[in-house]
Amino acid sequence: MRYSRYFLPTLKELPAEAEIASHKLMLRAGMIRKLGSGIYSYLPLGLRAIRKVETIIREEMNRAGAQEVLLPMVQPAELWQESGRWEKYGKELLRFKDRHNRDFCLGPTHEEVITDLVRREVRSYRDLPLNLYQIQTKFRDEIRPRFGLMRGREFIMKDAYSFDADERGAEKSYWQMYEAYSRIFTRCGLDFRAVEADTGTIGGSFSHEFMVLADVGEDTIVFCQDCDFAANIEKAEVKSSIMPSKESPKPREEVHTPGKHTVEEVTGFLGVSASRLVKTIIYLADGKPIAALVRGDHEINEVKLSHLLGCNELELAPEEVVKQQTGAEVGFAGPVGLQIPIVADLALKGMVNFITGANKTDYHYVNVNLSDFKVSQFADIRCITPQDPCPRCGGKLVFKKGIEVGHIFKLGTKYSQSLKATYLDAQGKERYIIMGCYGIGVGRTVAAAIEQNHDKNGIVFPYPIAPFQIYLLPVDVKNNLIAETAERLYKSLGTKWEVLYDDRDERPGVKFKDADLIGIPIRITLGKHLKENRVELKIRKTSEVILADLNELNEKIENIVKEIGG
Ligand code: ATP
Ligand code: MG
Repeated sequence: MRYSRYFLPTLKELPAEAEIASHKLMLRAGMIRKLGSGIYSYLPLGLRAIRKVETIIREEMNRAGAQEVLLPMVQPAELWQESGRWEKYGKELLRFKDRHNRDFCLGPTHEEVITDLVRREVRSYRDLPLNLYQIQTKFRDEIRPRFGLMRGREFIMKDAYSFDADERGAEKSYWQMYEAYSRIFTRCGLDFRAVEADTGTIGGSFSHEFMVLADVGEDTIVFCQDCDFAANIEKAEVKSSIMPSKESPKPREEVHTPGKHTVEEVTGFLGVSASRLVKTIIYLADGKPIAALVRGDHEINEVKLSHLLGCNELELAPEEVVKQQTGAEVGFAGPVGLQIPIVADLALKGMVNFITGANKTDYHYVNVNLSDFKVSQFADIRCITPQDPCPRCGGKLVFKKGIEVGHIFKLGTKYSQSLKATYLDAQGKERYIIMGCYGIGVGRTVAAAIEQNHDKNGIVFPYPIAPFQIYLLPVDVKNNLIAETAERLYKSLGTKWEVLYDDRDERPGVKFKDADLIGIPIRITLGKHLKENRVELKIRKTSEVILADLNELNEKIENIVKEIGG
């Protein structure tokens, strides 16, 4: 591709709208442009990187025996009503009406549509197993779209769905996808980990998220230093033994804590550690108020809490509800005297003489004990911490941030039951098909790769997903020797590699800057050495520069490609 003809609008300034490196770089390198909140156009360079990822995905999905389909993006409400998700999905589902006043939505995911397709076509166990996938645009009306392609509202996803006759088959399909995903992200050049993920209302242990390790990641993942335990913090079970306190209970006392709301303020004021306090957090679980108690130095895990309560929607109670239930301003809630169900974290079991809010503005209680109020249920409802032991082996835990690029999930019969997708087994008995679903965020994968592979000058594309492999840079197109050799090389190299040919009549500095920004893995510079028939090869990743004779250029490039993961 000739740069002079290429639609590649690079930016010198830092785009104000972007917070993280990958988003800034994708804008600056002319890969994407924003149309609206969370909605982006892919420019040629960005689309090439996306297509590279898609190609890797296709190859690995096909290799794993999955077959590509393409399902509609516009989906009738009836199917979603049948599965029960028309009500449950909430505001991320973009709904609209057609001219006949019928309800539709834009597909945020395709379980309903694929299950409908399969229930109509699959009759017998002989038609199974089946794994169908597509690479397609999804729409989710995300509450906080941000970070460019990382969390868009419109985005490209690869989604696959497996259909099996029995549990064993379903597990096999699951692990096949696990393997395929591992290969896909390895081939994309990513530093990633597969971690155990929450299985929601379905339960069981079959869900993994594929996390690209990066500080800007929105998920926290926890690993064990001693065994192979790795989980999303949402899921990680806390297994700490409760150390019963040796103190004997003292009588409860009310203390004046004017204007002290937070754990730090209260414990600082009273001169005690945060672990002496119990936080009382009021939630609305499907609209009904409940109180959750955790130790002051612990954090509530809302995923665990909502599973425990079996609710659809869990939200922090608004100020009015807190006031109404506690009779106090926010910040002074406590369990003593509360009239709503109280769920307490397991760590509370060993606690004696703790501090809580007094349900009275500007007051707390000290020396509160479990006998002072009624707990409806004790359960693991907090996030694991670095002080906790590994739930599997008791070893030491490490925490990291991750970007979820892929998610695999054993669905069981959730959709086949609600949508009545059955088959006849060998005995002629009707059974539900067992399903799995498997997603990859394509744009997010490109963004995550850039997040992990960049430096102060720009993107450093991993070779396998680079939009071009070679950046051919004649320093002066007015110099005949340079210009003619560049034209010749462009043609000959182009038979083997994807070449971006910077044929612009620009100052060398401008070209070098753009080359670094765009991050093509190998740069070939035609400059002063050309008189001796030599060109400069620069590896973007290592900044290593190699002088190569023109007649050994191909060989040198091949060696570099071997080295940097072609
Ligand atoms: P998240 O927790 O990040 O919202 P999710 O659990 O909703 O993700 P899935 O429904 O499992 O995601 O979707 C499959 C994949 O699609 C995710 O692993 C992610 O890579 C990608 N994805 C999901 N939401 C978005 C989004 N808003 N923008 C870009 N990619 C997304
Ligand atoms: Mg989501």
